[in-house]
Amino acid sequence: MSITYQRNQTIHELTTADLDVLVVGGGIVGSGIVRDAAMRGLRVGLVEQYDMAFGTSSRSTRLLHGGLRYLSQGRIGLVYQSSQEKCIVQGIAPHLAQPTAFIFPTYRRSQWPYWQLRIGVKIYDLLCGGRNFGPSSGMSAGELLALVPGLNPFDLTGAVRYFDALSNDARLVIDTLRSAAGHGAILNNYLRFETAFFSKNGWECHLRDTLTDQTYRFNAKAVVNACGPWAGGLSHSSVRLRVTKGIHLVIDRQRLPVPDAIMVTKGKRTLFVIPWGRRNILGSTDTDYNGPLDDVRTDPSDVQYVLDVINGYFPEAKLAHSDILSTWAGLRPLIASKGGGPSDISRAHQILMPKPGWFDVAGGKLTTYRLIAEQVVDQLFKHLGRKSPLCRTAEEALLNKSEQVVVKSVQLQDNSAQIESSILPPPVCRELVEHYCNREWAVHLDDVMIRRTSWHYYLDLPLETAQQVAAWMAECLAWDASNQADELARYNNLVAISTGALSS
Ligand SMILES: Cc1cc2nc3c(=O)[nH]c(=O)nc-3n(C[C@H](O)[C@H](O)[C@H](O)COP(=O)(O)OP(=O)(O)OC[C@H]3O[C@@H](n4cnc5c(N)ncnc54)[C@H](O)[C@@H]3O)c2cc1C
Repeated sequence: MSITYQRNQTIHELTTADLDVLVVGGGIVGSGIVRDAAMRGLRVGLVEQYDMAFGTSSRSTRLLHGGLRYLSQGRIGLVYQSSQEKCIVQGIAPHLAQPTAFIFPTYRRSQWPYWQLRIGVKIYDLLCGGRNFGPSSGMSAGELLALVPGLNPFDLTGAVRYFDALSNDARLVIDTLRSAAGHGAILNNYLRFETAFFSKNGWECHLRDTLTDQTYRFNAKAVVNACGPWAGGLSHSSVRLRVTKGIHLVIDRQRLPVPDAIMVTKGKRTLFVIPWGRRNILGSTDTDYNGPLDDVRTDPSDVQYVLDVINGYFPEAKLAHSDILSTWAGLRPLIASKGGGPSDISRAHQILMPKPGWFDVAGGKLTTYRLIAEQVVDQLFKHLGRKSPLCRTAEEALLNKSEQVVVKSVQLQDNSAQIESSILPPPVCRELVEHYCNREWAVHLDDVMIRRTSWHYYLDLPLETAQQVAAWMAECLAWDASNQADELARYNNLVAISTGALSS
């Protein structure tokens, strides 16, 4: 099926009969809502102004976590919710939740004394209802140094070890959307919601196709604003956000060969070193942000901050700008609160209905997306005056069998075992690129290189790979030579942005 045909089909379906619900925003929150709504039988659509997962949901630390840090803030309810949800996501999408051990070293005179953390990680396990991915434990300074030799030994008192899971944020979005589409949701990327007008028929919604610049309008009985950092800017929105920026760096694993993920602190902020195949992910920062939402960049000062903190804990590593292979920067859409530093703001979510049938969803975490979606869809049914069928998103697997077949056949031809888990990037191959174009809404080269695969962040030679991928996409999407050159230029520009900060 050609991409133009697919898009026309979506637009036709959106505009021919009224929707029950239009979800605006193809991040994890919007994806979760559209899947749940479709599974409960609503006629639901989703539009995303750029690519699926373009926003925060492809720029996180990729953890499904209860949030050990929030325990110290006394936010037990949030840790409980998140702990339950991380286990649920592992149940419905094991390929997107890799149980991972975290070592948290403790130092004399730190804000995080060993004995307090020992109790903390036990409570953490209990909040998972006995279902955590492994039992937490403690170790002496000597045991820790034997396990992680490069760690700064000065004033070291020991460590705790606890479990969370590593995910792949953008893949979680895409697979959730594939599932939603399989349940009848009508969805597409590069469709921008412009405005809506309330009338007796519900909401008259106005869209712009950002690929063709054509505009469309149709009616929906309800609209859900799931626009993450953009949520405050939508017409009719009542959302007030405090947006903070966080960046990540990718380095070669051999430069810092840690056996497990390592959690370290700097004041109230926690940072991680997370093993990711041949790489380590380092991050993140948490700073107030007032710049453009569509173009968030890693600044040299962000890089320096992360390197300084990690080098403080691993002085022998002497990590430098030249070690950085790639970076990403994202925005936390946190609910505005008066005072306090960025790391003090709650990560809880909020669902508001400021006007009949207009729902604003704000805050939350990748980990709690399914619960947020369940609560929103419950409220949608109430608003529509209909009895809701049971929510099944905590039990029903994310991918159905026919969708897995495509992935498996690629795995056999490529003879790679990695693809069963979607945490690491898949092998570079034509069949997969065709799959992304035909079945996963990939339109631009960066849709494939960044959000479908993470090749951009992970591979040794992403530019060379991009040329090959562009040639495959050209055949699949009928690009001519000039389209192909434009796509490569667009991608090269993104590479320059993501590594530009490193040269200074
Ligand atoms: C640095 C960092 C690290 C994080 N780490 C973790 C973590 O490890 N674990 C965790 O649980 N959480 C983490 N989070 C939080 C988590 O990533 C976010 O809470 C989550 O991704 C937000 O998803 P969202 O769908 O609300 O927003 P987004 O993913 O930003 O999606 C909103 C979408 O709406 C689209 N949109 C906006 N306006 C329009 C319009 N007019 N028309 C159509 N579409 C529109 C945008 O393009 C965007 O794609 C982290 C966040 C950051 C920034």
